[in-house]
Amino acid sequence: MVCASSPRVRTPVSSRVHGGNGPATSVARMRAVRCVNGAVAVVDVPEPAGEGVRVRVVSAAICGSDLHLLQWGLTATMGHELAGLLDDGTPVAIEPIAPCRTCGPCSSGDYNRCVEGPAMVMGVGRDGGMAEECLTPASSLTRLPSGIAVRDACLVEPIAVAVHGVRRARIAATERVAVVGGGSIGQTALVASQATGATVDLEARHDAQRAAAERLGAGEVGDGYDVVIEAAGTTSALARAADLCRPGGRILALGTYWDGVELPGLVVSMKELDVIPATMYARVGPSRDFDVAASILAERSELADVLITHRFPLDAAAEAFATARDRAAGAIKVVLEP
Ligand SMILES: [Zn+2]
Ligand SMILES: [Zn+2]
Repeated sequence: MVCASSPRVRTPVSSRVHGGNGPATSVARMRAVRCVNGAVAVVDVPEPAGEGVRVRVVSAAICGSDLHLLQWGLTATMGHELAGLLDDGTPVAIEPIAPCRTCGPCSSGDYNRCVEGPAMVMGVGRDGGMAEECLTPASSLTRLPSGIAVRDACLVEPIAVAVHGVRRARIAATERVAVVGGGSIGQTALVASQATGATVDLEARHDAQRAAAERLGAGEVGDGYDVVIEAAGTTSALARAADLCRPGGRILALGTYWDGVELPGLVVSMKELDVIPATMYARVGPSRDFDVAASILAERSELADVLITHRFPLDAAAEAFATARDRAAGAIKVVLEP
């Protein structure tokens, strides 16, 4: 259970960008995935030092956001979907944000809206989890319920995104829900909606996505839904969501709109649809979206097998990103195992 037996995959040092034996100093080094000249590279960096709890990363998944961040010239170590082991061997998932805990939004539990903004997000404004180790605030640790393998627990983060959205949209057990988009956020939105007791259908572009949704119990999409979840992040998916809603229904806008998106204004106003955006995760009273997500992952034992389509050692990060980018080839969630 402890350190020595962790299932790490090692590949030769020669495949590192800055390999070799490292400088002759006392600073320990490790491998980390960063953006170098717009491309993914595994680089040799100092082990993280400073405040926080050290986590030895076991699984770090690639998110659609990571593909966008590459274009934005990210300087931090990548990765915000991660799980690992504490020094004493405790398996944890990590809520990859370090909010200030004192501002107005933080005080009310909406710490995803913290005044710190993107600077608080691992893999965006701070070093992330695609590395051998990372440092995180103790408040970000989520102890795993029994039954979840730490190598699968990188899924807690995308499930938490969906749980947060489902809570924002106040989805009820009696409602009919449709999901537009079959990527990992569409699939986790399906599962988080099902957890409320609602009946959920899903529409996806690719065969592998449709097959995954079917395995998770989604039905074929019809019309007249109480809630439609937009999980593709595109103008066409948002228009499709508006069409699928009943008059007076809600659109949960769960995509991340990097380049903006056009609102299907006429349909939205004629049907008086509520459009509800959601980002990251927070807490409702003492109940953290992250903890709810971990319990969903524990309850749905088939989830990891359905969603994690590929696993790569950290040194194969470039190949892993290429696989994640090629959705038509069947990738849903691609995981790096440092
Ligand atoms: Zn993500
Ligand atoms: Zn704050």
